[in-house]
Amino acid sequence: MEKAVQLTGLTQPELISFVETLGEPAYRGRQLFAALQHRRLRSFDDITDLPKELRTRLNQVARSATLKIESQYASTDGTRRYLMKTHDGLPVETVFIPEERRDTICFSSQSGCPLQCTFCLTAQLGLLRSLTAGEIVEQIQIALNDAYGTGVKPPRGTNLVAMGAGEPLLNLDELLKALRVMADPEGLYIVPNRVTVSTAGVVPRILELATTSDRPHLAISLAAPTDELRNELMPINKRWPLEELLSACKTFEKTLKPGELLTFEYVMLDGVNDSDEQARQLANLLNRHSIKAKVNLIPHNPADPLPYQPSSDETVQRFKAILESKGIHAYVRRPRGRDIFAACGQLAARQGTLSNRIQTTLAGANN
Ligand code: SAH
Repeated sequence: MEKAVQLTGLTQPELISFVETLGEPAYRGRQLFAALQHRRLRSFDDITDLPKELRTRLNQVARSATLKIESQYASTDGTRRYLMKTHDGLPVETVFIPEERRDTICFSSQSGCPLQCTFCLTAQLGLLRSLTAGEIVEQIQIALNDAYGTGVKPPRGTNLVAMGAGEPLLNLDELLKALRVMADPEGLYIVPNRVTVSTAGVVPRILELATTSDRPHLAISLAAPTDELRNELMPINKRWPLEELLSACKTFEKTLKPGELLTFEYVMLDGVNDSDEQARQLANLLNRHSIKAKVNLIPHNPADPLPYQPSSDETVQRFKAILESKGIHAYVRRPRGRDIFAACGQLAARQGTLSNRIQTTLAGANN
């Protein structure tokens, strides 16, 4: 299988070139792109408007679906988590989060993660490997097909967040490739402006992203207002400490469009990073760099072997009020899908309980 071309990760012009190498006319490439990306068909056999011989040929030399759903879980809040496997048997997790005005799909950029953030369960897997553009696109197709039916247009808009397993900026080329594929109006038509990429702070890649045209929005995971604490919670800070990170953010900020904000995520760990003093330190840090940003406070999602508890609601509100009193826009992110291990920092290829496990009977889902 590894030698076969993964067509889901090709842009429309690339797909056209590919079919031309098979001796087919360009319009077959456009037809195939629409079938794979717009109609979200997972199997060449289902693309019945292509000649049978071409479908047979495609089955020999190419792949469209490589991810297999192992299990899926539905939360009482409507969130769905998919645990999938790559062709080489590695776990990939995707979360579908319905919201009133739009849906959000949280996808993974890597299987596992090389960073060792102490509060995140994914860290315990280590890095298995980076995902390909095709594997990233497939995650979105699978979630949409499951939520709405194969090829059915989502009734609301779809936002994407690269906040699942992995560090997206350590897989930037494949990520940007996937975004180019998904932006095509004749395909999924999810434009970069609908996508937010979250990073633990890979400074050179933040600077690279700043110079990328048609880039997604950026969120930075901070988790601590001082180097001392951040070194402990997020070891990546030893490589790119806060001053360097924030000056990269300042460079990025200069590329923001009107109305666009940088987001800082701050996971709230009881008794670790949630004191009044730490709120003031965080506000001072951001104000000193005068970055146009908002802060998302994320109450820690408990994840069994991790030695942390979430901050109390009262502490979160007080922390938020201190930030606001210093002119920082702060929001509390409501945890979604905690009961099915779908919330931030809980993705570690876990099987959920039987009661919320759904049989994967969806036609075509595993083709
Ligand atoms: N590697 C990227 C993408 C992962 S995003 C990054 O670090 O940004 C995951 C988000 O969830 C990050 O903002 C992270 O700080 C947060 N997070 C990780 N573990 C968490 C946990 N147990 N509870 C709440 N948030 C967590």
